[in-house]
Parts: sequence; C-alpha cells; structure tokens
Amino acid sequence: MAYIKIKRPELSLADKLYVPAIIKGLWLTFKHAVASVRGKSQGGKDMASSGLGITMQYPEQKWDEHLPEYYRGVPALVTDEQDRERCVSCQLCEFICPPKAIKIIPGEIPSDDEWAKVEKRPKEFEIDMTRCIYCGMCEEVCPEQAIYLRQDYAVTGLTRKEMVNDKKRLYEIGGKRIGLVNKWNELK
Ligand code: SF4
Ligand code: SF4
Repeated sequence: MAYIKIKRPELSLADKLYVPAIIKGLWLTFKHAVASVRGKSQGGKDMASSGLGITMQYPEQKWDEHLPEYYRGVPALVTDEQDRERCVSCQLCEFICPPKAIKIIPGEIPSDDEWAKVEKRPKEFEIDMTRCIYCGMCEEVCPEQAIYLRQDYAVTGLTRKEMVNDKKRLYEIGGKRIGLVNKWNELK
C-alpha cells in the first residue's frame, strides 16, 4: 500500500514559546477593550446606558431586538394559516431528541372532524426545558414543519414542573407560521 510521509514543520523558538500567538491574542483583546470603552463595540450604541456602552443593563435592556433572524431559542409548536395544528404526532422529534426532552402522546382525530384525513394530532406534547439543549434536531427532522426554535430565550421557573412546556404553552410560544409546506392539503 502506497503511503506519503509528511514532514512536520520545524518550530522556531518563538513558536515553541507561543509568544506570537499570545501577543496576537492580547492585541485583539486590547483592541476590543478600547472599542468598548469608546462605545464603538458591536451594539455599543444600544447598550449606552452604562455610560460607556460596555454592558447591557439586563433586565431593563434586553437582547430581543438585537437577536438575529436565525437565532434559535425555545422550541415550540406552530399552527398553519387555517389554525390547524401542523403536528401529526409522528413522534420523529421525540425519537431524535438527544436528551429525550420531548414527550408526545398521540391522539386520533375523530372521523367527523374537518381534518379527519390527517388521522393524528398530539393529545399531549411536552418539552422539558431543563433537558433541552437547543440543538434544533426536532426542527430539522419534522416532516410537517410543525416545530421551530423561536426567539424566546428567557426560560425560568421555580420548580421542575414549571420548566416543562405543555402543548398549550408550546402553541402560545410558537404562534402561526404561514406560507410553508402543507403536505396534507391535497388530500383534504
Ligand atoms: S432543540 Fe434539541 S434538545 Fe431541544 S427539544 Fe429539540 S431536539 Fe430536543
Ligand atoms: S412536531 Fe413534527 S416531528 Fe414532532 S411529532 Fe409533530 S409532526 Fe412529528
């Protein structure tokens, strides 16, 4: 079997002492420190209440309007433009969730319901926020675009029970998402 021998680069004394890397790191830190003190750091204008633009004065000031569009906070369920629950209780998200934060009890949709052809919707749906690691796997795997990581980030509670978001709460956080895939519409 052919193989290639790769020669290791020779390290200079400065490299061995990590001196250039340390100086580079210190220079960067110094540059950002000066920018912060001058109120020129990223978002510094919005954080100017400290007088220097260094510290965000939480909770009077919040990240809310500074969060980027792609920010991924608390996972939540969404309804579609017809207020239908997008979730069809396939349980893929429950299966894929690395820390097992999701618990679903599927429920059958009665035959006289206007969405009967969808067959299932969640009877219960819980996400335990003491377990969730905000990985986004549930959002990735969902075939119905029913679960999204929203921009909420302040998750608090005095008990473990309060940290579990039930179905009602999940829809409150999630709200409505329109203009996305409606897989079942053709079959209605
Ligand atoms: S974001 Fe990750 S950890 Fe949180 S519920 Fe979804 S899959 Fe589970
Ligand atoms: S949120 Fe999506 S992946 Fe999870 S059970 Fe509902 S349809 Fe399936």
